[in-house]
Amino acid sequence: MKPALIFVLILTLSLPKMCAQESNIVTFRWPEGAGSAVCLTYDDGLDCHLDVAMPALEKYGLKGTFYATGSSSSLFDRMEEWRSWAAKGYEIGNHTLFHPCQGDRFDWVRPEYDLNKYTMDQIRTELRTANTLLTAIDGEKERSFAYTCGNYTIDGLSFIDSIRFMFPSARGAGEQLKPIDQVDTYYVPSWGVSDPTGEELIAYVKKANEMGTIAVFMFHSVGGGYLNVSAEAHEQLLEYLQQNREKVWTDTFLNVMEYVKAQS
Ligand SMILES: [Zn+2]
Repeated sequence: MKPALIFVLILTLSLPKMCAQESNIVTFRWPEGAGSAVCLTYDDGLDCHLDVAMPALEKYGLKGTFYATGSSSSLFDRMEEWRSWAAKGYEIGNHTLFHPCQGDRFDWVRPEYDLNKYTMDQIRTELRTANTLLTAIDGEKERSFAYTCGNYTIDGLSFIDSIRFMFPSARGAGEQLKPIDQVDTYYVPSWGVSDPTGEELIAYVKKANEMGTIAVFMFHSVGGGYLNVSAEAHEQLLEYLQQNREKVWTDTFLNVMEYVKAQS
């Protein structure tokens, strides 16, 4: 075969693949002309979520995701309030029943809730039972998951694959912003904040917007408590998001990840 013909043949065979790759990059678009997305997520099912975070979100017309641990006392004491916020469109996400974490990494983990002492079947059963509990509260059949302490292994073995059939998407840890085509929808990085200023929170959103990607915030206490964000800094962020809603799409983790999955 002539070299020129071989060249044409190689080019022809490789074209469909090149086009497919290019079209993936070119066709990813955030909805309604937005340049990026933001997910506001709140962990552990705390009273301050009902008292401070949700009313603030409501004030600015924004939605968020609340990863409520099944054993949370707030969930027990104020179940009707959780139910009524969920009915307004706030996502209650799965965050296990007992909040197991790796005992060798965190000294506050009680031995019976050391993730490294769990079995694969045990974590799956716990997550399924937490889903049953949350469905009894909000009536929803689908919700996202947030790894407790960002941990996804038991004795070095990942359980990510075994939860894919239970959840449409999952939030991980790790502050880094990734290009949207590199985001793993079953371990989406999030910034676990601890006493940030409003300016720092807004800077994170701006950086994600420059990259055309997603910024996920992992909040715990709002307005006082552990891994806290002050009510003022929190509101400063929400005000920015409200004022820039054409540029930045803010929604629940479930909704944003459903959109990302449909685009890729
Ligand atoms: Zn947690």
